[in-house]
Amino acid sequence: MSETRIGTKCVQSGYTPGNGEPREIPIIQSTTFKYATSEDMGKLFDLEASGYFYTRLQNPTNDHVAAKITALEGGSAGMLTSSGQAASFYSVFNIASCGDHVVSSSSIYGGTYNLFAVTMKRMGIDFTFVSPDCTPEELDAAFRPNTKAVFGETIANPALTVLDIEKFAAAAHAHGVPLIIDNTFATPVNCRPFEWGADIVTHSTTKYMDGHGAAVGGAIIDSGKFDWTKYPDKFPGLCTPDESYHGITYTERFGLEGAFITKATAQLMRDFGSIQSPQNAFYLNLGLESLHVRMKRHCENGQAVAEFLNGNPKVAWVAYPGLPGDKYYALAQKYLPNGSCGVVSFGVKGGRAAAEEFMRRLRVAAIETHVADARTCCLHPASATHRQMNDAELAAAGVSPDLVRFSCGLEDAEDLIGDIAQALG
Ligand SMILES: *Cc1c(COP(=O)(O)O)cnc(C)c1O
Repeated sequence: MSETRIGTKCVQSGYTPGNGEPREIPIIQSTTFKYATSEDMGKLFDLEASGYFYTRLQNPTNDHVAAKITALEGGSAGMLTSSGQAASFYSVFNIASCGDHVVSSSSIYGGTYNLFAVTMKRMGIDFTFVSPDCTPEELDAAFRPNTKAVFGETIANPALTVLDIEKFAAAAHAHGVPLIIDNTFATPVNCRPFEWGADIVTHSTTKYMDGHGAAVGGAIIDSGKFDWTKYPDKFPGLCTPDESYHGITYTERFGLEGAFITKATAQLMRDFGSIQSPQNAFYLNLGLESLHVRMKRHCENGQAVAEFLNGNPKVAWVAYPGLPGDKYYALAQKYLPNGSCGVVSFGVKGGRAAAEEFMRRLRVAAIETHVADARTCCLHPASATHRQMNDAELAAAGVSPDLVRFSCGLEDAEDLIGDIAQALG
């Protein structure tokens, strides 16, 4: 079969039933798998044969769904994790250890920032945060001899900055390290970072991929293109024998296509166990089957809402990459020509009090911390997720007191605009 398009991949990739087999991906609700002999099972533990033995490491349901996301991103191998947080952690910890350093865009999801700046720092990994808008020279200056990776988000949650992926990839590769991209908000329907030079992609599948607020999950996909063996001293975990797996060397045994994901499965899933449940993987696949259809609608609604807000006398400012005049419009045209996402951030004139009043009046949009869901949801960070901060601290965090994050769902745009119009008063 010739290479299929993205929508066909959403519907069909990852699982092809044989004659008389279930049409839907079966939920293999089993912790363990049975073997005839100890020798058969021993081969799995030596990574000599592929197969399943314990769901903490791998499960067939998960592998079908990971294969679909791998196909969507155009990667060589992929794995599911229990959450987006686990995916971000594994993607970095698979190649960086105590004493290492990572360069990250400062415009990233708050949970990822905390993971890097606080928790992984306690593990002895240092992060340098750079503005996504930095010059190539400023980016270059952030690297150290012990830098092991560069990290950024295609479209940052909630700042809605669009990353210049080629600029970050060029800097990473000039220093012999991979670029890891969190592609949660764009999804592979709107941007495939591997086509722009990224090496590893992560997802919080909790957002658009699941799309229905049903299951927390994450994914890591490897492009298979980064040549670890050119820098064996930088990446000893991939290029020298793993004593905890009978001395196998991942790049030798599994090639560039399989080394990263096999190591993350064999070591990190074994030791940390952040597996996605097969039941959740099944829900995730239902979401993926309509991802291309839903993303189109999310983007149409986001665009319509952004255009309504832009120029409304009660609105102080609007951030949406699809809006001509937005700071990231040109980058969005380049990296996200078919649309960006359904999330629009804006400021209500009158500051914190006016934003709080706006939230109280909403009827169609629900107040939630969630985003990227079928149902429109809205958050005022200054009175919710960031409520412990005063105005000066909010400003330092890039969250103004008037900021409202409006995540357009799949409803009719007219109803969303009507709700916003009445709530603005
Ligand atoms: C939500 C989110 C995460 C974290 O994912 P969880 O599934 O909640 O653990 C990471 N990155 C981005 C961009 C997100 O929006």
